[in-house]
Amino acid sequence: KKVADRYLKREILGEGTYGVVYKAIDTTTGMTVAIKKIRLGKQKEGVNFTALREIKLLKEVKDPNIIELIDAFPHKGNLHLVFEFMETDLEAVIRDPNIFLSPGDIKSYFQMTLKGLAVCHKKWVLHRDMKPNNLLIGSNGQLKLADFGLARIFGSPGRKFTHQVFARWYRAPELLFGAKQYGAGVDVWAAGCIFAELLNRRPFLQGDSDIDQLGKIFQKLGTPTLSQWPDLEWLPDFVEYSSQIAQPWRKLCPTASDDALDLLSKMFTYDPKSRISVQQALEHRYFTSVPLPTDPAKLPRPA
Ligand code: ADP
Repeated sequence: KKVADRYLKREILGEGTYGVVYKAIDTTTGMTVAIKKIRLGKQKEGVNFTALREIKLLKEVKDPNIIELIDAFPHKGNLHLVFEFMETDLEAVIRDPNIFLSPGDIKSYFQMTLKGLAVCHKKWVLHRDMKPNNLLIGSNGQLKLADFGLARIFGSPGRKFTHQVFARWYRAPELLFGAKQYGAGVDVWAAGCIFAELLNRRPFLQGDSDIDQLGKIFQKLGTPTLSQWPDLEWLPDFVEYSSQIAQPWRKLCPTASDDALDLLSKMFTYDPKSRISVQQALEHRYFTSVPLPTDPAKLPRPA
């Protein structure tokens, strides 16, 4: 079936946070695309208009590490977002037991992640839903952030959709403590979780509820003290936890280099005001020390 006289719908790729995603052919270019169908039915009239205006802005963002929004249009009560088609994602890479990731490969994947995030933050947009399956990988090995800007337009997915449980593992402590005002630090924390997951090849902080998520964080990183994080006691859901001491990073990520561990610890700083920024992380010596990041075209990908 043709959508908007331009896209030839193929199979369903999956059901995501905002709706169904289809594979399709763009008949004007012959290119394969992914179309995200977003239900607008239940929203208020005004939201659609704001959404469309914001989406026009997203179309103007062109960067090698951000997935390109090719087209956006309403059709039969749904908003259709057309993206470039991507072969795989970072979650598939991390989970594939046949893939060996060298320290240079990890550095390359993580550098591309931070570069994409830096573009978001330069435009004062938080991603808010950083996780390995939102980091898509193209046929040339380029990693690109997906769902950039969507959280701001359609609301943060984590709370409304129950199937979004995995996002919890990447949630920063200030969010778990109910902070209403938060900043770019939430994406830095999530990126730190992704970095640790690349190094260990398993999710770093796997809580099975929001309370348990904090428990898992404290178990590894120690309970935050008020001298480490002075604003902590003012957060809406603050409760005192029995104090635990931090485990050594060397034990938490046994295969990582000293530079990697130094960067990791700076991304997992409790006080969001003291946490390293994405730009500072990109300037960390980890990225300039040997081994250098692998050329994306040479990165291992699922068969
Ligand atoms: P989620 O909200 O769970 O992150 P998405 O809505 O992003 O899921 O995507 C749903 C499914 O569609 C996933 O399986 C994802 O791999 C696939 N998908 C999303 N965007 C693309 C794309 N640009 N190219 C190929 N597959 C995609």
